[in-house]
Amino acid sequence: MPFNWSLRPCAAACHLCGTAFADRQTLHSRLLFTREGYDRQDYCLDCWPRRAADPDASPAATEVSDWTHDFHAPPPKAAPPVQRESAEALLRQLIETDDPAQAAPLFVLAVMLERRRIFVERQVALQPDGRRLRLYEHRKTGETFLIPDPNLRLADLEPVQLQVLSLLQGTP
Ligand SMILES: [Zn+2]
Repeated sequence: MPFNWSLRPCAAACHLCGTAFADRQTLHSRLLFTREGYDRQDYCLDCWPRRAADPDASPAATEVSDWTHDFHAPPPKAAPPVQRESAEALLRQLIETDDPAQAAPLFVLAVMLERRRIFVERQVALQPDGRRLRLYEHRKTGETFLIPDPNLRLADLEPVQLQVLSLLQGTP
């Protein structure tokens, strides 16, 4: 099974009725575990109770977690690129690699971003294999980040923090 902790952005429209979300609209989202990996589905509050009637719902999928949140309309494309914290840029880079060996530094970065109030931890979900999966939401963009908890012992934490610091120093 691929590790697959990819970034799951919020959909632009309801998974069931297809109505485009408005800025600040409250949504109900869920995370499913399917044979292909994780799948995120976003619903308007009217459709959420009827999600079982969703023709796309696969009976083989397991609902790992669900949460409510406000939709943040993406900024207009013409806007200048947002300057990101280098810790955030590094986290995004590590997610791109989709490499299980990066699980520990990725987790340390997520905790770092949570302390800086860039991320908010929404939920801790138990994966079918027994590992914990932490669901972080980016406060500004509303993006969801699924970060597997590598279950670091205190003794393992320091070398990982040093690794992250040296990676950050290598980030322009
Ligand atoms: Zn809907």
